[in-house]
Amino acid sequence: MSIQKTVPLSRIVQLGGKGAVKKMEIGGNAPVSIQTMWKEGISSVLKDSPLYRENALDSILNRLNLLSSLGCDLVRFAVPDMESAQALCLIQKHSEMPLVADIHFDYKLALVCLEGFVAKIRINPGNIGSKEKTKIVVKTCMEKGGAIRIGVNAGSFPKDIQLKVESGTMSRAEGLCETALRESEVLESLGFTNFCVSMKASSVQETIKANEIFAQQSSIPLHIGVTEAGPLIGGIVKSTIAFTHLLQKGIGNTIRVSLSDTPENEVITAREILYENGKRSGGVKIVSCPRCGRNGFDVHGFVSRWQTELLSMHKNITVAVMGCIVNGPGEGKHADIGITGAGDSVIIFKQGKIVRTIKADESIADTEIKLNNLHTCADTAFREELESL
Ligand code: SF4
Repeated sequence: MSIQKTVPLSRIVQLGGKGAVKKMEIGGNAPVSIQTMWKEGISSVLKDSPLYRENALDSILNRLNLLSSLGCDLVRFAVPDMESAQALCLIQKHSEMPLVADIHFDYKLALVCLEGFVAKIRINPGNIGSKEKTKIVVKTCMEKGGAIRIGVNAGSFPKDIQLKVESGTMSRAEGLCETALRESEVLESLGFTNFCVSMKASSVQETIKANEIFAQQSSIPLHIGVTEAGPLIGGIVKSTIAFTHLLQKGIGNTIRVSLSDTPENEVITAREILYENGKRSGGVKIVSCPRCGRNGFDVHGFVSRWQTELLSMHKNITVAVMGCIVNGPGEGKHADIGITGAGDSVIIFKQGKIVRTIKADESIADTEIKLNNLHTCADTAFREELESL
């Protein structure tokens, strides 16, 4: 990858540090953080039955823990009404991970979240309604240690900028940047600097351009993302192109991959992009073959069964999953642990040396049942070897 011109370090946004919430920084020399967005409504944690409430809260907290072990630093929740704002305060009270309230229009929702020490709010001064309301939000942020993200996207330009974009006197990327700078000035004029900015478009090139222009003009930390990036594959491609381009120039302090898919897959994608761009290291790395006609082992099935668990482990190891003996141990010889098909058997190797051979149970006549049984035994053996690392 060619070395490209980088931009100066951004200033720092502080968040968390209240109650049980972890303290973290966005910007400056802080590692690029990963965020995702919760995809369901949360008001159910306030439903009548205490048992229902407890179960709903537990299930959200367990999933937040999983996202955190996959590498996620921040999770944003939509807060469309007062019930959701109160629910988010309850979740934040029990969660170490800093959470973000996504708020449009109603500044009172922001105040409730900030009072409940939700770490950050996404709100735009331009759509709160008046400077007085923005002042109240900023004052509460300062008192409670809350941070803000101004989130500008190509679908919500102020009228004058929209007209310039439509008439072609301003590009959409310039429009995004101009809108973000204008919103930022409102917060800065109130003496508030604990905020970051995002400018998102569904076009990769517009997203890149807008962030480049902004980074040349401002030291405000940038949350980068391609909005409405699409389904899994298309979304991964778009995000990878945009983020790699920006990260290699030192642009982007926190990233969100938007996919029409699970938050776990958004986090895994973001993490892989950061690893491959040299912005993160450590953790479990999975090397797996694409599988071909020589395979004696269901690589795809194994990877999909194990991916989330492996990537959420706190181990610095490489795991190789190969379809056959022809290339398996050879291709995976640098792995700490590997698993590969070998005719009717599955072998497990460590640092290139075979440590287990799991043979198919010949007493099982049905081929499919025999294969399933082999894979179950291989999973058990793999788990034992993995735990001993
Ligand atoms: S490891 Fe074996 S099964 Fe996998 S792609 Fe290579 S030759 Fe094919």
